Amino acid sequence: MRKLGRILSAATRGLCGSRTGALSPDGASIIESSPPCQAATPHPRLCAITDSGIVRLSNEDTFRIAPEQKAFFVADGMGGEQSGEIASFIAAEAFMQLSTQIRSAPEFLCCVFDQAQNRVLERAKTEPACAGMGTAVVAAALDGDLLYIGHLGDARAYLCHGDGLVRLTSDHSTIARAVLRGDLSWEEARLHPGRSTLYKAIGFEGQAEPDFSSVRVTPGDRLLLCSDGLWDELPDSEIKDVLTSEGTVCELAHILLNRALAAGGHDNVTVVLYEHSWAEDSSGLPGTSSQRG
Ligand code: CA
Repeated sequence: MRKLGRILSAATRGLCGSRTGALSPDGASIIESSPPCQAATPHPRLCAITDSGIVRLSNEDTFRIAPEQKAFFVADGMGGEQSGEIASFIAAEAFMQLSTQIRSAPEFLCCVFDQAQNRVLERAKTEPACAGMGTAVVAAALDGDLLYIGHLGDARAYLCHGDGLVRLTSDHSTIARAVLRGDLSWEEARLHPGRSTLYKAIGFEGQAEPDFSSVRVTPGDRLLLCSDGLWDELPDSEIKDVLTSEGTVCELAHILLNRALAAGGHDNVTVVLYEHSWAEDSSGLPGTSSQRG
């Protein structure tokens, strides 16, 4: 698994000399993404990219697309050595395997978090180098015009509808909790040095307790899943400006990534951007097939 993990992780970092990697929806095509937007995925309404950022040498983020479920996944691993990378990969593997087995979107998401938790804890128990590893996860699955979202940690989902942007997830961080209590403003929280401290994530002891929600989507809505390497660099207002502007999902995803890098790129950055459409979504994501972990 470790070897496969390295291969996939290398794939998501790019194999063409580019710092940014783009994995096509079928999980097979690695497309160079420098200069930006030469990295268009084959799908006109879906773009998934990850980048190690400016500061970090490794990339502990992982993304996946599951066409059978019309589902999307981002994990942001944490831990010593390479264990954060392993944790996010294990969670991604659970997501892909279950996507072929469970048709109900809510049940699928529940099982993803349960399985990811069990597998990460098991690996951490049996491999000393992986002790204490964990990963934030955000996953979304479509059932017609209903979008189901689950998350643990501080990977986020946003929905852009018309000229508005709604955050669909609340970070499981101590700082976000302080904001909800009224102890801090969002602006203070955004710059707080302890903003990355999580109280829930995959790999934390005990039962995984993700938050689940659902929202009705309409054609033209844009769904963004991202790691904190994006939202930590860009305020929500800037993410909204980009997502409400004209452009293909590939162009917009790369604008987000490039702005995060220009703002410092202190962490790994992952962007999964999907634009909803009735015609194609009623029969699945065209031109895609499952990626097997
Ligand atoms: Ca991160």
